[in-house]
Amino acid sequence: MPAGAGIALWNAGKRGLPALSVALLDATERNITFAAIWTNTQKTMEEPLLNAHNKQEYPPMHTAEHILNRAMDNAFGCGRAVSAHVERKKSKLDFALPKPPAEEELLRVEEEVNRVIRQGLPVTMEYATQAEAAKEFDLGRLPEGAADRVRIVRVGNYDACLCIGAHVANTAEIGTFRIASHDYKDGILRIRFKLEGGKENAFPHGGKA
Ligand SMILES: [Zn+2]
Repeated sequence: MPAGAGIALWNAGKRGLPALSVALLDATERNITFAAIWTNTQKTMEEPLLNAHNKQEYPPMHTAEHILNRAMDNAFGCGRAVSAHVERKKSKLDFALPKPPAEEELLRVEEEVNRVIRQGLPVTMEYATQAEAAKEFDLGRLPEGAADRVRIVRVGNYDACLCIGAHVANTAEIGTFRIASHDYKDGILRIRFKLEGGKENAFPHGGKA
C-alpha cells in the first residue's frame, strides 16, 4: 500500500470519523512503518523487530515494559533497556549498568512501576514528523530513508517514546508488576518480571503463553 493512503486515513481520523477508521489507520500505519522505518532500530524504538515479524505484543506486558524502562532510567540514569524479550506470562529486560544495584533499589523500582500503574494513567498515541519528534527524542538511530512520520506513545506525563507496539488504554489494566528475579553479569542487569491480577481476558491475543 502506498504511504499516501495511510496519511489520507489518518487525516480522515482526525476529522472525526468513527473509531473503526482509526483502528484501520493504526494497522495501515504499521504496515507502512514496517517497510519504511522500523528496521534495525532496536534501541531507539521499543521492540520494532517483533512487529516486523508480525508478532503482536500482549498489551499489558508491553505497556509495563514502557513503565519499567522509565523507572529504571529515572533510578539509575541507564537509559532504556538494551535488549528485551517480552511475552505474555513472563518477560525480561536487560539494562546496561556499571555496577549491580542493591536489592532495595530494585524493590523501589518495582514499587515505582506499581505506583504508576495504580494512578490509572491514560496511554495515548500521536503522530509527528521526524522534525517535530527530534525536539523530544533522539532520532539518531532511524535508518536512512525512513518515512517522515513517527508515532509517539505517552504513559500519562510519566513516559514518552517512539513505538508502534500494542498498548493498554489505561495503566490500570496492567495489573500488579512483580520482579520475579534478577541477575547481574558483565555490566548487564537482567530483570525478569511478570504481571498479576490484570485484565488478561480482555487481551486474548499477543505474546506466547
Ligand atoms: Zn510500545
